[in-house]
Amino acid sequence: MADVAARMRELSDLLTRYNREYYEADAPSVTDSEYDRLLRELQQLEQQHPALADAASPTQKVGSRPLSAFQTVSHEVAMLSLDNAFDDDEFADFTRRVQERLDTNQQVAYCCEPKLDGAAVSLLYEDGVLVRAATRGDGSRGEDVTSNVKTIRNVPLRLQGDNIPQRLEVRGEVFMPINAFQEYNEQALSRAEKPFANPRNAAAGSLRQLDSTITKQRPLHFYAYSLGLVSDEAQLADSHYQRLQQLKQWGLPVSDKVERVDNAEACQHYYQQILAQRAELAYEIDGVVIKVDRIAYQDDLGFVSRAPRWAIARKFPAQEELTQLLGVDFQV
Ligand code: NAD
Repeated sequence: MADVAARMRELSDLLTRYNREYYEADAPSVTDSEYDRLLRELQQLEQQHPALADAASPTQKVGSRPLSAFQTVSHEVAMLSLDNAFDDDEFADFTRRVQERLDTNQQVAYCCEPKLDGAAVSLLYEDGVLVRAATRGDGSRGEDVTSNVKTIRNVPLRLQGDNIPQRLEVRGEVFMPINAFQEYNEQALSRAEKPFANPRNAAAGSLRQLDSTITKQRPLHFYAYSLGLVSDEAQLADSHYQRLQQLKQWGLPVSDKVERVDNAEACQHYYQQILAQRAELAYEIDGVVIKVDRIAYQDDLGFVSRAPRWAIARKFPAQEELTQLLGVDFQV
């Protein structure tokens, strides 16, 4: 038992350190698959030995605290993480749990989306005007990055169209397309500056610059994938997929790979289809996100501590190797 407790502490310390490197410094020292393996080990030990589980464990937390260099934004609706399914069996467990919790024999429709590998942001529109942008931070408090986000060319500063709720919080991912990332790194090296380790770090690092003229020079893009706080829900569709179409109509960019499917089997097909397209996509993805489409079902399913019960990240097999191993000194 003492050995188990010691291993749990060791895992917790390691994961806390990796979180800090990844979220605060944008400079991971281990691969995502190694991180995921350690997190999974800690989750399993906590399940097997609940008495030893710490309420402040990294398994219960989202991201990392906001940097003090930025103003802090409180998220009125928490910005959570996602649970992962690493294989077909884990995905089947997810859809079975959904069906059981909803206590229905009817087919549940899902919205299937690429899992963009960048940084999550919240965009607050009031009367259709972008008034605030924030990072996810630790899920309850993020960093105010409004002036930086305003420099991202495909983020609309003003929405257009009918029935836009007076307060509308849009959530999505800021990312750097692969070509732009490679070009940026080539130029950085030619100026004897440090390159970024991968497009995800490039996006997160560029988004959290203290000088927005630097962010403006970085080729960042944005895709919306969900909503947070909304003043008038009645103005929104009752399906997640339809809500994304509404966002598109109001001028927000949404990935054209988003699909609504009728059942769990079709989600597996979507996963295979996107996996096959992965190498040709203009941006990096590390899986697909499968969400229960009906908003009423999402509300019934609710959340656990760090993730919604109505969505899962179906992860792709790991392909990255830590570029730091090549001995290159990367930008933090
Ligand atoms: P996550 O990547 O597991 O999933 C949640 C995030 O997915 C959201 O916050 C959002 O930003 C993103 N996302 C992309 N497309 C989306 C879509 N269509 N719909 C909804 N969300 C979408 O999030 P996390 O909690 O930030 O990170 C955990 C993961 O980060 C780990 O599994 C690991 O792979 C990696 N990580 C790595 C290290 C390391 O040291 N290498 C450290 C910490 C975390």
